[in-house]
Formats: sequence, structure tokens, C-alpha cells
Amino acid sequence: MKLARRMAALEPSATLAMAARAGAMKAAGLDVIDLSVGEPDFPTPPHICRAAEAAIAAGYTKYTPAAGLAALRKAVAEDYTRRSGLAVTPSQVVVSNGAKHALHNAFTALLDEQDEVVVPAPYWVSYAELVKLAGATPVLVETRIEDDFKLLPEALRAALTPRTRMLLICSPSNPTGVVYQPAELAALADVAIDADLTVLADEIYDQLVFDGRTSPSFPTLRPGLTDRTIVVAGVSKTYSMTGWRIGWTIAPEPLSKAIANLQSQETSNPSSISQHAAVAALTGPQECVEQMRRAFQLRRDLVAARLRRLSGIRLPDIGGAFYAFFDIRAALARARSVGIATSLAWCEMLLERQQVALVAGSAFGAEGHVRMSFAAGEETLARGLDRVAAFLDDPTTPRA
Ligand code: PMP
Ligand code: GLU
Repeated sequence: MKLARRMAALEPSATLAMAARAGAMKAAGLDVIDLSVGEPDFPTPPHICRAAEAAIAAGYTKYTPAAGLAALRKAVAEDYTRRSGLAVTPSQVVVSNGAKHALHNAFTALLDEQDEVVVPAPYWVSYAELVKLAGATPVLVETRIEDDFKLLPEALRAALTPRTRMLLICSPSNPTGVVYQPAELAALADVAIDADLTVLADEIYDQLVFDGRTSPSFPTLRPGLTDRTIVVAGVSKTYSMTGWRIGWTIAPEPLSKAIANLQSQETSNPSSISQHAAVAALTGPQECVEQMRRAFQLRRDLVAARLRRLSGIRLPDIGGAFYAFFDIRAALARARSVGIATSLAWCEMLLERQQVALVAGSAFGAEGHVRMSFAAGEETLARGLDRVAAFLDDPTTPRA
């Protein structure tokens, strides 16, 4: 069967592909340390699971409104208003099947063919593909490790064309872990306002920040930004609920209506049971969020300190999320003599020789780098780092 043209350009998700590969090796009995996928390793907090059980028992097992339960849209709006200080109404919220689906909805509702979306690289794997699926063009703008992989206003300005429609910002960042300062975001906001851009702010990691940082919501940085910004977030990371598939957009009302229409035709509502669980997550006790944040910070300390000691490795300041994105170009130069020339080859050899799964930087638009997720226990991380160190010393000898 002939596939549609849009499929020819579509890459599979490299993060999910690597996790699947590591999973298959584990199932075959190999001692694999999987630091590929970005997924909190904690169980979903028990009070959230109990709310789902109660929802089933109460018979909430039917369709809900396509844009989500009124109680959940209200809970999202209130939680956002409480934390950002910006008033939003439940009608500005559409609840979707995870933040990934929320991104797809936003791009589909906003982008026409020929539109360009500025995506700072390194970027999370799905952005470029989802923009292409919507028929538009991702314009990848390289950032430098010396700037902690932050997009600078002058680089944004230089990337603008008459077709630029949108800017995508992810802070705290997947894949780099970098958190923009408020003034840095405000400077980007000024360019976006000047150029009349719509901004998509992926704030799914906004509560996972370290060392007393805060991560302000993008529309708080300049007056009027709410009219041009779509905030994407969800429960996957904050409440360790990746499998429940609940995310959302917060957008101006006309756009929210369009997204709700789209969703009513494409998927209808996300799981009713998951929605009830998400209400419990947002309105219930929040200590679990801080407990997990603290655990991630300790892991960040461990991983960053160990990686910085390895020869040929450079990494930026990890202010949030749960990723270490490091520069392996010096290590690659040394490994060329044994036939390893790219970050993908490096990751494949690391998996084969040492059974550690990382994701190649090329999947994130940054060849010469790799991403390590530190959403794993400290003992697992320590063993993984020992193996990475052994591989850097000698990429050819298999693990004893
Ligand atoms: N945005 C970013 C930056 C992410 O890291 C992820 C995690 N996959 C998502 C969106 C999608 O999250 P979800 O599991 O809610 O679809
Ligand atoms: N955000 C996670 C990651 O980047 C989940 C995987 C995915 O959805 O691609 O690893």
C-alpha cells in the first residue's frame, strides 16, 4: 500500500524507540541500565490511584465532554492561576491525551502550509515531527553549550522570515535540563511581540526546578502575552503519571474552541478515569510533588558531579527536568580510530558493550551530544555512570 506523503518525512520517536530496544534486551535477560526515556520512576502517588478506583466504582466510565471534564478544566485553570498569578478560565483549557497530543492539537489548529516555527535546538524529538505533520516547517536554530543552550534574542531575530508564525520555547528544557531566567524569556518575548509571533510554551517540567529556582510561565513576562501564547503542560512529569495520558493546552478562548472542535472529531475525550485521577492530582495534597522534586535534585547532583569528572565530557548547568545533555565531541574524536564517528554510533556501541541505554544527540538536532535521563534510582545511576566511564576509557572491550 502506498503511504501518504506526510508519512515519508515522519521519524519514529527516538526516545521511545531506544526505550523499546532497551526493554527488549532486558526481557532477553541482559542486565541493561536504561537511562533513555524521560519518565519518572516513582509510582503514581496512592491518593491519585485511589481517586481512579473511586471513579470506576462510581460508574464514571463513559464519555466526558470532548474538551475534558468541567471539574478538571476548572482544576487546571485554578492551579495555573494560583501558581502564575494570571487569571484564566476553564473555557481556555482543553484536556488531551497527554501533552504530546496537546502539542499536536495546537500545531494543527494554528499552522498552515508554508508557515514556519522557530524551534531552538537541541529540541525535544517530537516538536519537529509534529510541526511537519501539521504541514508547516520547523526552523531549527542552533544554540551553544557556552550559552547553556539558551536561544538568544539576536539568534531568534536572525531566524525570522515573512513566514515565521510561531516560536516554541521549552523551559525547563527537555533535552538539556536548562531553565531560562525570567529576563532571558522576557527578551525573547519582546522579539515575539515585535514580530507578531504566536508562542508555544511547553511548561510540562515547570515544577521540577532545582536550587531554589522558579520557572515563571511565559505569558507572565510581558503584558499582552496571554493573547499570543499557548501554554502546554500536564500531569505526566509533575505527578509521575505518564501512563495515564493527561495533558492540556491553556490558550485564548477562540483557539481553545478550535482545539476542542478538532479533538471532538479526532479522539473525543481522554480517558474519563484518568481525568478523575488528574482532578485528584491537582486538587489533592501536593507534598508528593516536592518529595519527587527533592529526589530529582539529589540525582542531578550525583549525575552532574560524576559526568563533570569524566574526561572529554561537557555539560550545561542543569536547572530542572531530569536530563543531562552532554557534549561528547572530544570523546568522539578519540573513538574515531575504532570506527565510532557519530553520537548514534557511540550510543549503539555503549548499549552493546556496556548495556547502558542513552539517546543520541542527533535525535534532538544536536549531533556530538547524548542525553541521559536521571529519572532512575541513585544506585542504578551510579552503576550506569561507572559503565559510561569504562566505555569512555575503552570503547571496544565488552563489560566483564
Ligand atoms: N513535552 C515535553 C518537553 C516532554 O518531555 C514530554 C514527555 N514526553 C511531553 C511534552 C509529552 O508528555 P506526555 O507524556 O504528557 O504526552
Ligand atoms: N519526554 C520523554 C522523553 O523525552 C518521553 C518519551 C517521549 O514521549 O518521546 O524521553
